[in-house]
Amino acid sequence: MFYKSTRNSNLKVTSAQAIAQGISVDGGLFVPSEIPSISLDEIAKLGAMKYSDRAAYIFSKYLTDFSEVEIRYCTENAYNLQKFSSENIVEISHLFDGTYMLELWHGPTCAFKDMALQILPFLLTTSVKKINCDKKIVILVATSGDTGKAALEGFKDVPGTQIMVFYPEQGVSPMQKRQMTTQEGGNVAVCAIKGNFDDAQNGVKSIFTNDEIKELLDKNSMMFSSANSINWGRLAPQIIYYISSYAELVKNEEISLGEKINIVVPTGNFGNILAAYYAKKMGLPVAKLICASNSNNVLTDFIKTGIYDRNRKFITTISPSMDILISSNLERLLYMLCGEDDAQIKKWFGELAQSGRYEVSDDVKAKLKADFSAGFCTDDETEETIKNIFDKYSYTCDTHTAVAVKVYEEYRKSTGDATKTLIASTASPYKFSASVLKAIEGKAPEIDEYEMVDRLYKLSGFDVPKELLELKNKEERFKTSIDKSEMKEFVLKALGI
Ligand SMILES: *Cc1c(COP(=O)(O)O)cnc(C)c1O
Repeated sequence: MFYKSTRNSNLKVTSAQAIAQGISVDGGLFVPSEIPSISLDEIAKLGAMKYSDRAAYIFSKYLTDFSEVEIRYCTENAYNLQKFSSENIVEISHLFDGTYMLELWHGPTCAFKDMALQILPFLLTTSVKKINCDKKIVILVATSGDTGKAALEGFKDVPGTQIMVFYPEQGVSPMQKRQMTTQEGGNVAVCAIKGNFDDAQNGVKSIFTNDEIKELLDKNSMMFSSANSINWGRLAPQIIYYISSYAELVKNEEISLGEKINIVVPTGNFGNILAAYYAKKMGLPVAKLICASNSNNVLTDFIKTGIYDRNRKFITTISPSMDILISSNLERLLYMLCGEDDAQIKKWFGELAQSGRYEVSDDVKAKLKADFSAGFCTDDETEETIKNIFDKYSYTCDTHTAVAVKVYEEYRKSTGDATKTLIASTASPYKFSASVLKAIEGKAPEIDEYEMVDRLYKLSGFDVPKELLELKNKEERFKTSIDKSEMKEFVLKALGI
């Protein structure tokens, strides 16, 4: 198997090259040349394995240029009890009547991003070695909260790497800020930007594409790479938990082997739900993929009408990790749905860059509808859902997960579809304690972040992640706050070049 670019079908690279590079030189995203299959027999066998073995098994279908030893080095270093608080790595919790929560937040930073960012540093350093490159990898991240911390935790003290994270000074929750400013590790740097997330992201992009800086890095035997979900090394690990959890449900006799299930995913950049689509295309028995958005409902409209239009107001919500108007990974899906027509993709994404809008063909619209359903919900509905779920099922969910639950309830009401369903639960409620407490108690709590965690513990009974408790006594290491025009200097200084 090899990987090609969504904007150049003739390109052929190995998975190691695709991962090391992050994005193709033509601006396209790397996709596998074919989708490997998995049989029901294989899925049944996975049920008897532990998570890291299931991961190694599935990776071997995609990373065909990696040896078994290389794959196991990655999976075993990532998915273990030093990193995750649950032996199963992910947990499945029965919410009601054939509806299951797929808890993806038992990793060190309490959000689903850990599932990929714990393994990415190993995939990346192995890939770089495999392509005979001995440069130090420099990771730059702009974050609105979850990605930055998960990337820092994944890359901390990984030999051959250095990581720098920029966040908007006023744009992250107090807990998220504390998580980043107390970050440990000898190869990490964190810096606040006086500006919003877009400023941070634009700053990072302009450094990435600055030829002078690239040359300087090259002279010093360094190279940039990407840790966000345009990198195939972040997407592949997400396919695994869908297959793994299906195998788990079969093993626990919650479903029978071959029985189709629906999957609901709270969506932002379209990475997580795309991984579920890959799992389905591999042969996992999946009926509908339900794409849940908050008030930034550009994907809901797209799946319903085939028109992608980002010309709308950006809305700041209580599910900030889904506040996004350009979902990068959609490009991979559309490439598959339009028959790998790279010219067509270039046309649509050119239109998106130019006018912020494109409309797909009737054929693609029909294919979209066959696999996907979509809905969105407002902040008020999100809060109501947190409260309802808490009252009815004694289950506490975070704001992002609540969006998925609400959209699923609406879907089920309007279609009558009672297929058993897995809902991706993407963050621990403790990460968004203020919003969750407000939803349950009806008013905003006037206490500090740690008291909120205490209070939420008394209500929910969920174990408090030790990583969040430990923050209280950690020293603040990174206090620098700079103007966006100073990012370049900051990077060069941190690299000592
Ligand atoms: C990143 C994130 C999402 C969105 O995931 P995508 O892969 O970008 O669609 C949802 N919930 C939480 C908590 C996240 O951190």
